[in-house]
Amino acid sequence: MKKEDKEGWGGTLPPQPATANEDVPIIIGGGLAGLMAALQFAPQPVILISMAPLGEQAASGWAQGGLAAAIGPDDSPAKHLADTLKAGDGLCDPETARRIIDAAPAVVEELARLGARFDRAPSGAISLGLEAGHSRHRIVHANGDGSGAEILRAVIAAVRRAGHVRVLESCAATRLILRDGQIAGVVVQGASAPFVLRASRVVIATGGLGGLYSHTTNPAGAIGQGLVLAARAGAALADLEFVQFHPTALDVGQDPMPLISEAVRGEGATLVDETGTRFMAGIGCAELEPRDIVSRAVWRHMGEGHRVFLDARRALGPRFAARFPAIDALCRAAGIDPATQKIPIRPAAHYHMGGIAVDAAGRTSVPGLWACGEAASTGLHGANRLASNSLLEAAVTGQAVARDISGTQAGRPAPLVPLSVPPRPKAAAVRAILSRDAGVLRDADGLSRAIGELLPMADGRVASADPALLGLMMVVAMHRRMESRGGHARTDYPLASPALAHRATLTWEHARAAARAVPQRAAVSVQAQ
Ligand SMILES: Cc1cc2nc3c(=O)[nH]c(=O)nc-3n(C[C@H](O)[C@H](O)[C@H](O)COP(=O)(O)OP(=O)(O)OC[C@H]3O[C@@H](n4cnc5c(N)ncnc54)[C@H](O)[C@@H]3O)c2cc1C
Repeated sequence: MKKEDKEGWGGTLPPQPATANEDVPIIIGGGLAGLMAALQFAPQPVILISMAPLGEQAASGWAQGGLAAAIGPDDSPAKHLADTLKAGDGLCDPETARRIIDAAPAVVEELARLGARFDRAPSGAISLGLEAGHSRHRIVHANGDGSGAEILRAVIAAVRRAGHVRVLESCAATRLILRDGQIAGVVVQGASAPFVLRASRVVIATGGLGGLYSHTTNPAGAIGQGLVLAARAGAALADLEFVQFHPTALDVGQDPMPLISEAVRGEGATLVDETGTRFMAGIGCAELEPRDIVSRAVWRHMGEGHRVFLDARRALGPRFAARFPAIDALCRAAGIDPATQKIPIRPAAHYHMGGIAVDAAGRTSVPGLWACGEAASTGLHGANRLASNSLLEAAVTGQAVARDISGTQAGRPAPLVPLSVPPRPKAAAVRAILSRDAGVLRDADGLSRAIGELLPMADGRVASADPALLGLMMVVAMHRRMESRGGHARTDYPLASPALAHRATLTWEHARAAARAVPQRAAVSVQAQ
């Protein structure tokens, strides 16, 4: 094995002998989607690969608000569905959305059965929070704003107890192996050396891609590596242009950026600039507008050279610490007292509505490959995600892929040819490009410049090739959607076009051909690594 970088990534693996090993399904990713899939396989054996130790570096554990489920007395799945379709701005797949939303009450019960301690009223009923875009109180939460951590704690404990799950921690999947167009295995970078896992059924549950932007709330490893694996294997990706930016990430130089929940604005905190001007006054419901509208207002104001702050002094003042203890602690750790000082904020990439295109069972366009959770594009979110629908989607779709795979036949292990191991992906160059040209607001000039810079990087054998491949597919999707809809805002096409009210898929081959056809603008000075 030839070493190509100091961490031991890169090089070539020798031919793998044919063995009589069992064809055990492999799940890539140890967030809520991957873990729920793993549990659902019982008693069938399954292998779960996680880049980090379980419980670390998974967005699932960072979720603050909770999981949406229509379980309140005044609520119904039909109302939850209506709110979801409205947020999705014409691009949800209504049948998929209905199926996932209908499954929410059972998923809450299952998580409680696994040991998740949800917040409850004195009567014992689960307490339900309200979030933007929801017409009813339907957010199931735990430990106030510690919902994801509690859910993940319970599910990880269940996986550790389960005898059928073999967990490989600190192992990153770096390539899928295909044989005759079908999945045949996974190349894995272990803590000290690469190895191959042979399998004819693989699930991608690798989460989001916020780490492809310089400003993000996502874990550092969330650079969409699962989407790259699928795209390199020929799978179709969908809805790649739709990235949700959270308007109020704490802007104190941390990477990833801590989140300041919308609930702070819900309590009356306002957005002001360095002069104290409340620049959203007069825009609709001002600071209580949906995430994408607030993000665009903040982005524009920053583009005019202002600094932007969340001001909770008048609305909350000395009550801040009691109402938002976790956020208070984050601010204080950065030297800010939110009771007496303005909180510096900026929009940050938060959630990817797009992903690997899947059908109702989570099957991708490549035989033997499934996807679930944020890495998948199921059609639930359309052009914009309704808050707290993603933990729900992760749990429901994780279970669904496992049920589907359990009904399939195991394949026949076969010898594999020599394999090349790619270098460890480095996203710095791509982050600079996407942040400059594919952020909250986009236009054709910026997108074609990004295409011109990403294309050679994606085609090369450099450490930025994998992030560049995905970045390129995203900017091609953004370039070809000549309208503004949901999370995709084009300054040169500010309105939604009824003719474009449909989802769009893209393969790597088509994206590369489309990129080559785009007239290139002069590149600036971003170096590949
Ligand atoms: C700060 C924050 C707050 C949020 N709040 C909420 C909320 O309140 N409600 C809500 O519904 N949603 C919320 N979300 C979104 C939600 O957390 C995610 O969409 C959801 O948890 C995704 O689950 P997942 O299992 O698909 O991915 P993740 O939980 O991100 O797990 C992905 C896993 O894949 C692993 N992985 C990645 N690449 C590889 C690889 N190549 N090889 C092996 N392993 C790999 C990672 O290490 C990780 O274990 C929030 C997100 C963030 C960042």
